[in-house]
Amino acid sequence: MSGLSDSFNRPINYLRISVTDRCNLRCVYCMPAEGVSLMPHSNILTYEEIYKVAKAAAELGITKVRVTGGEPLVRLGLPELIRLLAGIPEIDDLSLTTNAILLSKYAAELKAAGLQRVNISLDTLDAAKFRQISRGGNLDDVLKGMAAARAAGLSPIKINMVVMAGSNENEIADFGRKTITDGWHVRFIECMPFGKTENEAVFVPVSKIKRELKSLGKLEPCAVKKGNGPAQYFRFPGASGTVGFITPVSEHFCFGCNRLRLTADGKLRLCLLHEEEIDLRERLRSGITNNELKTLIKEAVASKPLRHNLAGGQVPRGRPFSQVGG
Ligand code: SAM
Repeated sequence: MSGLSDSFNRPINYLRISVTDRCNLRCVYCMPAEGVSLMPHSNILTYEEIYKVAKAAAELGITKVRVTGGEPLVRLGLPELIRLLAGIPEIDDLSLTTNAILLSKYAAELKAAGLQRVNISLDTLDAAKFRQISRGGNLDDVLKGMAAARAAGLSPIKINMVVMAGSNENEIADFGRKTITDGWHVRFIECMPFGKTENEAVFVPVSKIKRELKSLGKLEPCAVKKGNGPAQYFRFPGASGTVGFITPVSEHFCFGCNRLRLTADGKLRLCLLHEEEIDLRERLRSGITNNELKTLIKEAVASKPLRHNLAGGQVPRGRPFSQVGG
C-alpha cells in the first residue's frame, strides 16, 4: 500500500497538531478543578519545528491536518503557522479546533493564511451555564467568533457539543433545532473519561441523545463531503445543517482510525486514549534530517495500538486532555 499505514493496514492520513497546552477556558470535562501545571515554554515546539514534522508526515502520506490545543488561538502568531502548513502541497484539508473566544479577532487573518475551516466547541446556549461549564468564559465572545468565521468564509463550521448529564443535556433539542433554523452543523460528542475529571458521572450515551432529538423529526442519514471523520451524519427533513454523533465510549471507531497526534511538547501520540508517546523534540533539537524524521514517524506509526480499552477500564489518567490535544 502506498502512503502511510500502521501494522493493522489502516491508512494513516490525518495529523492533529497541538500548538499549546494553554487555554483561556477551564472546561469541567477537560481540566480538573485544581487546574493543571503548565509546560515550560522551552518544551513547546517552535513553529519551525512543527512545520518540519508536518512536512515529513505529509511526504509520508498525511493529507489532513487539524491545529488544536489547549486553545490554539492563545498562541501568538498562529496565522504564521497556518501559512507554513498551507504551503505544504500534500495537505489538502487544513482546519482548526477552537473555543472561538478569540476567533472574531483572527478569523479573516487565518482565512487569508490558508485555513479552510473551523470546528467550534460550544456546549450550551445559556450564558450562565457557559460560564459555569467553561469556568468563567463569555458566551457572547463565542457567538461573535462564529459570526466572524462565517463572514471570513471558513466553511463548513462544525459545532462540537460535549453532552453531560445534569448540565447541558436539556439543550440537546435546542442544538438540534439550530441545524434547521440556522443551518448549523452540530456534532454531539460523548464525554470521555480522561485525566483527573469526574466525567464518568455525567456520561450520556448517544442512544439517549438520539431519543432527545426525536421530537424534531426523523433523522435521515447523509453523506458529508469534507473532513468526514468518526462522526455519523444525519439531517432533519428540510434542514440545511447536519447532525453528527461521535461515540468514542458507547461504540468505538478505532478500527477506522486514521490519526496521529503531535503534542505541543513534541511527542507523537498514536492514540488519544493510550498514554504511550514517542519523543520527537529532542531529535528535532539535535539536528535530525528529514529522512531520519520520516523513518522515526514510520516506526512510531507501526506501534499504533489497535484500539482503546475504555470499556476494560483503561482510562488515560496521566496528562489532561488539554495537554494531549483534542
Ligand atoms: N480549545 C479548543 C476547543 O475548545 O475546541 C481545542 C482543544 S479541546 C481539548 C478540543 C475538543 O476536545 C473540544 O471540542 C472539547 O469539547 C473536546 N473534549 C475535551 N475533553 C473532552 C472529553 N473528556 N470528552 C469528549 N470531548 C472532549
